[in-house]
Amino acid sequence: MYPRIRAALDDIPAYVPGKSGAGLVKLSSNENPFPPLPGVLERATAAAATMHRYPDLAATELTAELSRFLSVPQEFLAVGTGSVGVLQQIVQSVASVGDEVVYPWRSFEAYPITTRIAGASVVEVPLAPGARLDLRALADAVTERTTLVLVCSPNNPTGPAVRRDEFAEFLSRVPEDVLVVLDEAYVEFVRDPEAVNGLDFLAAHPNLCLLRTFSKAYGLAGLRIGYAVAHEPVAAAIRKCAVPFGVSTIAQLAAIESLHCQDAMRERVAAVVAERERVRGALLAQGWAVPETEANFVWLATGARTAEFAAACRESGLLVRPFGDDGCRVSIGEPRENDLFLAAALMQA
Ligand SMILES: *Cc1c(COP(=O)(O)O)cnc(C)c1O
Repeated sequence: MYPRIRAALDDIPAYVPGKSGAGLVKLSSNENPFPPLPGVLERATAAAATMHRYPDLAATELTAELSRFLSVPQEFLAVGTGSVGVLQQIVQSVASVGDEVVYPWRSFEAYPITTRIAGASVVEVPLAPGARLDLRALADAVTERTTLVLVCSPNNPTGPAVRRDEFAEFLSRVPEDVLVVLDEAYVEFVRDPEAVNGLDFLAAHPNLCLLRTFSKAYGLAGLRIGYAVAHEPVAAAIRKCAVPFGVSTIAQLAAIESLHCQDAMRERVAAVVAERERVRGALLAQGWAVPETEANFVWLATGARTAEFAAACRESGLLVRPFGDDGCRVSIGEPRENDLFLAAALMQA
């Protein structure tokens, strides 16, 4: 006999981390192929000397820096343990048993998990052709029980970004008492001038919350730090749901130092974007259907061949990320790693 566990947890798919393997090229977790930005490792290492102290609970200095960087009031910010940690706080803030959380599918794996942990019901809205989000269908799926809609742009794992005009229409259709989260984990990689940037919509929409992270463009995935930007009452609610002292001093100072490296960050992101375009072009030339991508990965709709394709990549020394019978997501790595992947894909084409 074991203690009773909440039945809501039975339906929760375990988060499948991108696999690691000694000697294998890891293109399975959308990590940044570059090491920490200049000066970041030194600042983080120095911060480690204070590990006998609790961190600053309010992340005061980082919040002030982000406020200046984004031109938003400090009260609009909530820093947390990665944007997934912040997402968990958001869901806890607005959704519980009896509430519905609407999100696209397939999209980010954390959405069903965090929703179910909160005890809320999931409403999954299929993607539109081109593996794009269907913003109209997302708005149509909102009911009186909906408290939260999650929008992922660019969409993980498929790649396309939401356009500004679709997002404007969507916001005009969602009731003002329903929170809309725009997950912008890959915003720095976006090049489409028509793509949405959440900051442009924030002032006019008190029910909008942006989710951003230091894990991708800034390369701090292992330190767990991200943040939400939302109007004061929403941000305050999110802050209440934080694990106390969850964001370490090391993470806070590394994030501050990383923010100071805009030029180096943009240079690295530009290199990844150039590789993304090269890889997608080569895959299209091989005959694969690859959706547009504004992120640091490409999506191959391998369907029933998904497991086989991932296994073949592994034979070639590459870890990619298979998703059921839908497709494989492959992160953009260093040029040499991308060449290995293109060679492996050609053998499967
Ligand atoms: C990678 C990713 C995140 C970031 O997660 P962290 O917890 O900040 O590392 C958030 N949303 C999406 C869609 C992602 O792909």
